[in-house]
Amino acid sequence: MYNNKFDREMAASGFGSQAYSNAVQFRGGGASAAARLGAIAVLVRSAGGSQNRLPHTGALRYAEDAPKIPAATITFEDGELIDYLAKMGTVKIKIVLTPQTFPDAPSHNVIADLKGSEKPDEVVIVSGHLDSWDLGTGALDDATGIGVSMQVLYLMKELGIKPKRTIRFVAYMNEENGLVGGRKYAEEEDQNISKHFAAIESDLGASHPLGFYFAGKPEALPYFLPISRILRSQGAGLVQLQPGGVAADIGPLTQKGVPSFAPWFDTRTYFNYHHTPADTLDKVNPKELAENGALMAVLAYGLANLEQPLPR
Ligand SMILES: [Zn+2]
Repeated sequence: MYNNKFDREMAASGFGSQAYSNAVQFRGGGASAAARLGAIAVLVRSAGGSQNRLPHTGALRYAEDAPKIPAATITFEDGELIDYLAKMGTVKIKIVLTPQTFPDAPSHNVIADLKGSEKPDEVVIVSGHLDSWDLGTGALDDATGIGVSMQVLYLMKELGIKPKRTIRFVAYMNEENGLVGGRKYAEEEDQNISKHFAAIESDLGASHPLGFYFAGKPEALPYFLPISRILRSQGAGLVQLQPGGVAADIGPLTQKGVPSFAPWFDTRTYFNYHHTPADTLDKVNPKELAENGALMAVLAYGLANLEQPLPR
C-alpha cells in the first residue's frame, strides 16, 4: 500500500500541479514497481487532496518487465485507517475489482480557426480536452478549459477584433486515456510546426488565475511584459517558467519547440475535486470562469499580434 500524502500546503501556495505530479507517480507507476518486488496487488492512496472520503482515479501504466498486478485507489481517510491498523499487527484486505477495458472506438478532435488578418498561416492555439473520467462529470477537468477556449473566439467576434495571426480553437479528444488527440494533432501538423507561433491550453480547472505558465526559451520572457501589464488589473500579472511543459495535450507541441502557455491558477481546491465524483458544475464559479476567459483572450490576442517572432 502506497500511503503517500498529497501536499495540500504546496497546492495552497500556487504549486498544485507540482504537488500533483509528486503524488501521481505512485498511481502511474506504483503497480509495476511493487510487482517487481513480489507484490500481488497494490492499493494507492488518492493522488489528490480530497478529504471527503472520495477515491481519486486516473491512468495507470504497466511496465513491460513486470507482472500486471491489480491496483486500486483508497481514500485519504482509509489510507490513514489502514496505516493505523497495520501498526498494531497484520491487516487482511479483500479486494473486489470490476473494471473492464473495451476496444478503442473512433473519436475526433474538434478544431475551429479564426483567420488572422496579416499572417493567416501562423497559428496561436487555444485549447482544452473534450473527454473526462466517468466517475465525475468533468466540469473542471476539462469542460471549463473548453469553455474558456471557445470564449476567446467568441469575444474576438463579439468585439469586432481581428487578430493578425490565426487563433485556432482545439478541443482534444482522449487526453485521460493516453493523450491520443494531442499526439495525433502534433503528428498530423508535423510539417507545419514552424507555423505554430504558440499553443495555450487550460486544463487545471477555473479558479482565480494568478497569471500564466510558460514553457519555452527564457529569453522570450520580456516579450510578455505588455500582456502581463494588461492582466495585472485583474490580479493575473504573474509568469512562471515551467521548462518541462505546461499542459498535457499541447505537450507534444512543446517538445517540438512550440512556445507553450497555460493559465496559472489558484490551486487550493482543484485537486480536491479532480478525477473524483465531486467534479461537477456546482464547483465552477461563474466570475472566476469569466476571469479565465479574459486571461485566455488577452494572452491569445497578445501573442497573435506580437510584432517579432518568439525565440525558439
Ligand atoms: Zn484534464
